[in-house]
Amino acid sequence: MAIKTLLAAACLLALSPPAAIAEPLVQHQRAEDQATGRGYVFDPDPLSSTRAHYGDPGYVNNHDQDSPQLKAARVQVPLPGLGKDINGKYQLVGPWAHCVAITDYDSCPHETAPVFEYTRDNPAFEAVNAYFHIDRMMRYVNQTLGLAIHPFQYAGGVRYDPHGLRVVDPKDGKTRTEANARYAREDGRIQFGGGSAHGAVSDEPDSPDFAEDGLVVIHELGHGLHDWVTHGAPADYEYEGLGEGVGDYFAAGYARDHGRWRPGDPEYHQVAVWAGEKRASNWHIGRHYPADVVNAGNEAHIAGQYWSSCNMVARDAIGGPAMDRAMLVGLAMTGRHTRQDQAAQAVLKAAEALHYTAAQLDGIRRAYTESCSYGVAGWPPPAKIGGAAPGRQTGCDYLLDLDAADPQWTASVPLQDSDAGQDLRLELDWTPLSRLRLGGPAIEMAWPQLSPGKASWDLTPLAKIAGAGRKLILSYTRDDGRVRSQPLALCLEGKTHSLPAAYFAASPFVGRLAVDVGNYINASGTLRVQLEDNRLPGEPSAAGELQLAIVDPQSRQTMHQYHANFRQDRKVPGLTVPVFRIDIPYADIGPYSGKLLQLSYRIGEARSPVATYPIIGRMASPDLPPPTFANIDHPDAGEISAGAKIDRLQPGDEVALHWEIVGQKPIVMTQTYSGPAGGQLRFAAPSLTKNHVTRWDRAVYAYSRLRTYYEIRRQGRTLLSPSQDLMVLIDRVPVTTSRQSP
Ligand SMILES: [Zn+2]
Repeated sequence: MAIKTLLAAACLLALSPPAAIAEPLVQHQRAEDQATGRGYVFDPDPLSSTRAHYGDPGYVNNHDQDSPQLKAARVQVPLPGLGKDINGKYQLVGPWAHCVAITDYDSCPHETAPVFEYTRDNPAFEAVNAYFHIDRMMRYVNQTLGLAIHPFQYAGGVRYDPHGLRVVDPKDGKTRTEANARYAREDGRIQFGGGSAHGAVSDEPDSPDFAEDGLVVIHELGHGLHDWVTHGAPADYEYEGLGEGVGDYFAAGYARDHGRWRPGDPEYHQVAVWAGEKRASNWHIGRHYPADVVNAGNEAHIAGQYWSSCNMVARDAIGGPAMDRAMLVGLAMTGRHTRQDQAAQAVLKAAEALHYTAAQLDGIRRAYTESCSYGVAGWPPPAKIGGAAPGRQTGCDYLLDLDAADPQWTASVPLQDSDAGQDLRLELDWTPLSRLRLGGPAIEMAWPQLSPGKASWDLTPLAKIAGAGRKLILSYTRDDGRVRSQPLALCLEGKTHSLPAAYFAASPFVGRLAVDVGNYINASGTLRVQLEDNRLPGEPSAAGELQLAIVDPQSRQTMHQYHANFRQDRKVPGLTVPVFRIDIPYADIGPYSGKLLQLSYRIGEARSPVATYPIIGRMASPDLPPPTFANIDHPDAGEISAGAKIDRLQPGDEVALHWEIVGQKPIVMTQTYSGPAGGQLRFAAPSLTKNHVTRWDRAVYAYSRLRTYYEIRRQGRTLLSPSQDLMVLIDRVPVTTSRQSP
């Protein structure tokens, strides 16, 4: 189906164009200032409430002009919780919704009496319409469903600007409103765009103001609910459109609850027809997961319809409040990289945790596996967690107390005969930012502990890196990554530290659990430390300080110290949780192989724990460059068919180049250099074997992981070079799924 091309940009985290910030001055509200007013709205839109079709006489946008039909389509509603402004006038500011002007165009009305009655051609109409639908939905979630979900970016009601969406018009580079709407994750506010009457950027000749459509309001609020319930980690654009599907699900459910359309009406399965969206809520019919979702051209608004449609089948089966509650509690168990089938598993788990009846659970399961093809039934059991207490609230399978004395947490996966020689990996996704894979028994470095019948990973250092207040979402895969276990949510709690531990930029060989000084680090000869600032978005910029100490593991004496100051800039576009990279001079760590490195940092008043990492690897000669490859410019991935190059050689150098391909015996190639000083030698690349497989997007990628370094015999001495870790892509196989019989 055709979707306006401009909509492809909707709901993306994007840089907002510069705009004057003109928020109304909000007085501290006393309880007696809150009044229930009244106003006119569309409920949920002028077509649904009248069962009219777009294009019927009077039921067209007509550049925001009023018509007798649209005037009559308004519904008078109570507006609860209204506060007063500094001049004593009533405004659309309440405990659940809060009209603000994000740009210099203020369309939030102020009235001496709490009566907000306008016709749809008045820009204040959209302010009232959005207030009413946001207030009602937030009360439904918090009071009817009993789930405390509200913005974490600020206190008070959900902030929205009824005419605040601004974009740069590609035609002339000017900033103007857009016929669209957007939930902004960077500040938790909803921006609605104006339509053609306001000169909006649009490829439609006659588009309405978007806050006029209550289903658009609920869709955008759905993005907010998804953001808030995941603590800022909703799966976003590239992950199968889950976020768009969540917004569409709540909008479709809201429309369904109004009961205006019947199953035979085309509008029954179309959401936001008045705004021109027509998102389908029966898109699953004749389609299969994952093929039709991943083949949606990476268009999240199309792919997301599968999620909303499948969940509407479940909602019809078990009822709106039950399904809405399971949806929100299930989403709380998901993270940034959650795909639709994982989210389905989480919603089912939530329904079990909420003690739904067998009939309700069956209704959800049948929607997912019979109406749709999420295949949730055949998933392997979850990993076993050792040393952790059961979670205390829904959405947490286990509680990991970071303040516990000497904690030790493990995740174990049962091994079966067919695992021999296969790739088995544990995948962790911790909110809000990171993802890490721990390798399996056959292929990777020996991180797991192997014992008869099971492989166990030590989660303790990872939990400390992730930090208090975060969740580890943990699942494992076998073979090629296509079969994934049921995910577990591990909730991290602790009072002592508010920042996660610092760590070294991951190498594919060593990960984050040690510092390998033998490995090539970066071109300027420094080692790179990463910090993740998990303070809430919106906190001000602050100065930070990194402390580094080298400690002898036997005597526990400090042998060396280093510290670096950095400035924390909160205005990193596109990132809700900034990652900082601080380069440490090689000389402050390199000579201390075999010792322990202790890292800690603070940002403002917040402090990290002290993280201790072993320093491993042989120190390289500072005079030698690492091996280089003709076609690579990035140390983690590349193409090495043109072979390796060793530079800056002296006459008489005997060069031994080492290729350590993971899982096989090292290959050593030797040559003697006889050219002029400063010249180079070339070595042909060996044939590479696949030893690492990962699934990404719509394909399975097979890599060869290897490390290269060389030794030089020069004037009776042996010099060691820095090493270079590589992941070379061997092949890419598209994921295909066989269609199930009807
Ligand atoms: Zn959206």
